Amino acid sequence: MDGMFKVTEEQTMLRDLVKKFVRNELIPLEKNILERFASGQPAALSDEENKKLFKQCKDLGLWALDVPEEVGGANLPAVALVGVNEELGYTCVPFTFPPDSPNLHMLLATANPEQRKKYLEPYAAGETTSAIAISEPGAGGDPAGMKTKAAKDGEHWVINGRKIWISRIAKADFTIVMAVTDTNLGARGGITAFLVDKGTAGLVIARAIPMLAGQRTYEVVFEDCRVHESQVLGRLGAGFAPMQLRLTVRRLQMGSWCIGMAQRALDMMVEHVGQRVTFGQKLADRQAIQWWIADAATKLHACRLMVMDAAVKQDEGRDVRMEASMIKLYATEMATEVVDHAQQSFGAMGVTQELPLALMAQKVRTMRVYEGPSEVHRMVIARRILGGR
Ligand SMILES: Cc1cc2nc3c(=O)[nH]c(=O)nc-3n(C[C@H](O)[C@H](O)[C@H](O)COP(=O)(O)OP(=O)(O)OC[C@H]3O[C@@H](n4cnc5c(N)ncnc54)[C@H](O)[C@@H]3O)c2cc1C
Repeated sequence: MDGMFKVTEEQTMLRDLVKKFVRNELIPLEKNILERFASGQPAALSDEENKKLFKQCKDLGLWALDVPEEVGGANLPAVALVGVNEELGYTCVPFTFPPDSPNLHMLLATANPEQRKKYLEPYAAGETTSAIAISEPGAGGDPAGMKTKAAKDGEHWVINGRKIWISRIAKADFTIVMAVTDTNLGARGGITAFLVDKGTAGLVIARAIPMLAGQRTYEVVFEDCRVHESQVLGRLGAGFAPMQLRLTVRRLQMGSWCIGMAQRALDMMVEHVGQRVTFGQKLADRQAIQWWIADAATKLHACRLMVMDAAVKQDEGRDVRMEASMIKLYATEMATEVVDHAQQSFGAMGVTQELPLALMAQKVRTMRVYEGPSEVHRMVIARRILGGR
């Protein structure tokens, strides 16, 4: 991206390095992922594949990219990560450079010195994994309605309740669990974040739920799950704001992933329609197909500008919650359309599970729900605009 946004030489070099990594290491693994997807297994990398990739990206310095220097990272700004995430989105292989950014930023904003040592440092070094448990059967898009409670008992907090749709929790070393500590205050000072270690008594994984795109989420039950008061993350009752910060980080990242995914679909479509002849003419010569291509390129350009603009503002310390909502909404809907048109241009081949397109279509379908459904983002944007009336 050039034009109004200045990208440094280092950022261009980083992006090129990631591009090479994606093309040389991840895209060759698509075949394995697609076979697992087609046979109904999780469309995920095996432990062995992950181990090999982690070693390669550590050797390349593609590790702890947005971790502050004092915790051993490269301390890269959000603008540098835009290109990185776009390149990672180009493949249907689910892979990110450790550590996953959203929980990292939540920990950076809230962890006390002991928690930094115990949780943040190993996490920042990519030695541990984490999950976050916000959603509940009765409260997802509106997390302020959560019912899971934590009650004080001496030096401990006792958590009771049920969470659902939680990604990664079965394997995660620790989970950030959001619970109500003051029912009168609710989201305005009554929701607290807790660090709950894997294997803590009373944290029960009730079931794995198969989702689209070969993903898995989990339903978990907290049955008198006791955690020491030292496991409160951030200030008591003040869990909602850092949780929102975490969501903002993810939403920008999702914007770049969607751009990568849509760019891949567009590239595939361009290659295909330039060769395929129907009724004596190349598909590329049909106006119907040209409009798909023109619309995809135009929307991709708009989306890139949106993400870059938000990243620049975020690096300046500005509040980008509104921009993050707009990006989450626009990018997921843009990628849905572009991937769908690419599938259509391939005819039957486009709806097989042999091309990455069908997996991408399912992935972006889930993305229109998690981290806030499109309709909730539209509500948030409209509320901000109408708010002053
Ligand atoms: C793949 C995947 C992974 C996930 N991982 C996690 C995780 O790791 N941790 C976690 O805590 N949660 C996770 N979630 C849950 C996710 O955040 C919620 O599903 C999401 O917030 C929506 O909540 P809900 O499913 O309860 O839908 P609801 O809130 O019941 O909404 C249902 C639908 O109603 C409509 N709607 C809702 N509110 C409005 C409104 N105000 N105006 C207009 N329409 C509206 C929308 O169309 C919405 O899709 C995950 C979900 C998925 C699909």
